[in-house]
Amino acid sequence: MKTTIVYRYALILSVLSGILFSCSKNNVETKPTESDPVLRYIKELGYKDSQIKDIGEEYLVDEDILFSKTSKPDQSILDKPKTEQYGTANYVGYNIQPNILVYVDPSMNSYLSEINSAIGIWNSVANCRVKFTITTTAASAHIRIINNNLGAGVCGAAYFPMNGLPGALVRININQIAGNSFAQRTRTIAHELGHCIGFRHTNWQSGEPQSGVLSDNGAYFDAYHILGTPTGGDANSLMNAGQCGIGATTLSSYDILTVQFLYPTQVPVAGTVPVFRYYSRATSQDYFYTTSLEELGNGTNGDYIFEGVGFYAFPNQPANTVPVYRWLRPTWDHFWTISPTEIPTASTLEGTAFYVYGSPINNAVPVYRYFNSSFGDHFYTKNLDEGTLRAGYVLEGIAWYAY
Ligand SMILES: [Zn+2]
Repeated sequence: MKTTIVYRYALILSVLSGILFSCSKNNVETKPTESDPVLRYIKELGYKDSQIKDIGEEYLVDEDILFSKTSKPDQSILDKPKTEQYGTANYVGYNIQPNILVYVDPSMNSYLSEINSAIGIWNSVANCRVKFTITTTAASAHIRIINNNLGAGVCGAAYFPMNGLPGALVRININQIAGNSFAQRTRTIAHELGHCIGFRHTNWQSGEPQSGVLSDNGAYFDAYHILGTPTGGDANSLMNAGQCGIGATTLSSYDILTVQFLYPTQVPVAGTVPVFRYYSRATSQDYFYTTSLEELGNGTNGDYIFEGVGFYAFPNQPANTVPVYRWLRPTWDHFWTISPTEIPTASTLEGTAFYVYGSPINNAVPVYRYFNSSFGDHFYTKNLDEGTLRAGYVLEGIAWYAY
């Protein structure tokens, strides 16, 4: 039994979906049914006819993944499989946090206890800016939970975050989970809520689409390894797939670390502020970092996508820190450097972005700088593992030290 992720699309926006890798594109033009771009895409991912089920508005693939028939697939593919906790790179907007409103559809009224218990699992995490609250007003809810017969073997489905908003819908297959224990019914709901805030499956390499998952808003649902989680998988993770009725019923220590990493309440060091990270892959291929939510907010549909907090830095200049200069290079690449003499050609100085350390003092950690020469883009992360997942990005060294 597997849980399911609905990869959402939206007609008003651009593109959806990528998923898994590749595999052969050989049979693309050979079968009549593959004139359907979604079906063709699913097959390009390597799924066989026997694994694809038409369930009306969607294709249900390998009992695990839903593809909307109205989605517009994209074949962009990145990265390599690993087995740590993973985020999608799409997270709940900073100014939506910490109050995520959940509306329980009347079809799920008999599961209110389980829903409250599932919410409690997430809300009990300390130092975390994700808190779910049930609202009785459907219109203002961020997430709706409904009962939906998803077919045998599918326990639930959920959307990933989009445009800084939590995944908007959780579908629970009461038919499937009714016979499970209370703790397991709760687990299914908590698991789906995890997807709504940007968790991918911890064990995603075992048959699940892995990366290059492009949402309709141009954001990629790459599987980003979460810094600090183990490399050997996590059997205790509530976010493991394929464990409906048998999976972990509490968050593992690494699940907790992950949600705290993605949504920390407290800045790691007094005086620092979050440096928000965005990425435009749809048009300009540009990573962007700013301490000001005013600049891009939750992201700008289809262009810059909110990717959470990149790291923490100082908004003013404490002792021993240095300024980070922000440049705009030609053909739209934002570039940051602490070197006053590293002046990119034909570029515009946009000012001092924030302040950091030039050496590893005061427990500051390295922020690595990468460059993608094929489309000229600089990328900064304190998560070295993440950098290695980025196809085409080459490590240039340590940019500075921050938190
Ligand atoms: Zn799942």
